[in-house]
Amino acid sequence: MGTIRPLLVNGNEKLGSASIWHFDLPPIRACPGRSEECEAHCYGLRGRYVFPQVKERLEWCFEMSKRKDFTRLLADEIYRKGILVVRFHVVGDLYSPGYAEKVRQVVEQSSHCTFFLYTRSYTVPAILPVIRDLAKLPNMSVWLSADRSMGLPCEVPEGCRVAWMMVEENETVPEGVDLLFRLRELRKKPLPLPLLPVICPTETPEGKRVGTSCATCKRCWK
Ligand code: SF4
Repeated sequence: MGTIRPLLVNGNEKLGSASIWHFDLPPIRACPGRSEECEAHCYGLRGRYVFPQVKERLEWCFEMSKRKDFTRLLADEIYRKGILVVRFHVVGDLYSPGYAEKVRQVVEQSSHCTFFLYTRSYTVPAILPVIRDLAKLPNMSVWLSADRSMGLPCEVPEGCRVAWMMVEENETVPEGVDLLFRLRELRKKPLPLPLLPVICPTETPEGKRVGTSCATCKRCWK
């Protein structure tokens, strides 16, 4: 059975206007590795994500992701549209080993396309092995998300990097973090010099001034 709606959405304010596409899932329900802090600050529970149309779309994507032919449908859409960069899960996460394996297969079958994702599902023992396999694929960048309520990952599989979410102004950021995000309300506060190289440039005044987006920055997916 074919689908009448596209699975992927094109761009957003942070990703950039045209070149990066995303596939999303409902917050919380599709986030088995969520931490106390990420649940407390989840943007998937606020703003545009509470609009009925957006919630309905995320639920539809969730149902689609359970279908046996999901891998083929998504890989076909990427191929047909000539899509070159995909981010999995602006909202949602790898919610089960079976779904993570489907994502792995889509990436493997779409060697012309570059993928990236941020995940806390590495904290789920049954999903971690699939994340290890996913991170081995040359066209996939896997970011292990972490914050002060969960600490750094016990294991950083080969090919993975660590992204830290800072939730308080004077929070100590542990060594070994490759990328730093801050809550919106902290973004105008000064950062200690050693953290400047790891902060996401969309969250700095200079990055905002020049209109940086993931499409122009490329740090997470190149
Ligand atoms: S570091 Fe660059 S690619 Fe990564 S999230 Fe920030 S803007 Fe996007």
